[in-house]
Amino acid sequence: MFAWQISSNWIPTKCNLTKHGLLTDEVCPICDSQLETTHHALWGCSSLADCRNLSDISLGDPLAVCPDFYDFIHQFLDPLPIATLELILVIMWRIWFRRNKKVHYDKMIDSDIVVSWGRDFLANYQRVDKPLDNSLTLGSSSSTLMGSSRSAWVPPTRGIVKINVDAALDTPNGRCGLGMVARDSTGDVIVSAVWHIMGTFTPEIAEALALKYAANQCRLLGFQNVWFEFDCLNVVLKFNNQVPLASSLGLVIADFRLSFSVFHSASLSFCARAFNTVAHSLAKYALSEVISKVWWPGYPSCIHDLILYEKN
Ligand SMILES: [Zn+2]
Repeated sequence: MFAWQISSNWIPTKCNLTKHGLLTDEVCPICDSQLETTHHALWGCSSLADCRNLSDISLGDPLAVCPDFYDFIHQFLDPLPIATLELILVIMWRIWFRRNKKVHYDKMIDSDIVVSWGRDFLANYQRVDKPLDNSLTLGSSSSTLMGSSRSAWVPPTRGIVKINVDAALDTPNGRCGLGMVARDSTGDVIVSAVWHIMGTFTPEIAEALALKYAANQCRLLGFQNVWFEFDCLNVVLKFNNQVPLASSLGLVIADFRLSFSVFHSASLSFCARAFNTVAHSLAKYALSEVISKVWWPGYPSCIHDLILYEKN
């Protein structure tokens, strides 16, 4: 969608809005010195110097005035190998997010976070897009690993906390378990938590509740740069597509969205269930032990083997 928008030169930069009579000021809101064309907003702005250096991709003279973005695409983006093109598009997508975060929330995301987020997002997307690793087998009554395949869980880059969440339902008894685990770039657990909740929920609402509880916990602990990952694709899609507030799911997602906007930088991504086993074990633990608890720092022994496995 974003690639289509920029290839049509239609993202609401100040120059584009002015062209359509919606603004009269065309100056970049970040550097406050040059016109905010699409090329300037996504690549040329002086505030993006570190992003350009860290991404290690050369796209001509970044400071050249490039009012026609089509020329830029044909000259510099079209010839790129597909892997580089994918990376640069994801980084530009995040650069645009960074720009909007600054304009609407007055928060500036660090350049290294923008680039590392882009690399993580792409690696994660490509990994999820591949068939599941079927040799990953869990024991039935505990979290002991029976197989010895590689771990599919990917740690975040330095400076980002990755939070996996999940929910488990006991519909006949009207109960639900939620679990979260937050890990750093080395795979070490920073905090883990479980919540036992009474009530009958749809799987989607239970998953969205797990996100909401986890986001609140992360806020309380003062995390700034967070990456939420879980295995409910529908909620990720609805989060991105702004479901109507009239639905119960919409209300829970709206709550989560509120927490989400408070972080310095935050992302939410989908992962296959096989990559979310720690959070799933925690959610089941909340159900079986009828317990709500935060381990700060630490985690319950039931996920010890899984943590070690995914760390290596
Ligand atoms: Zn600028």
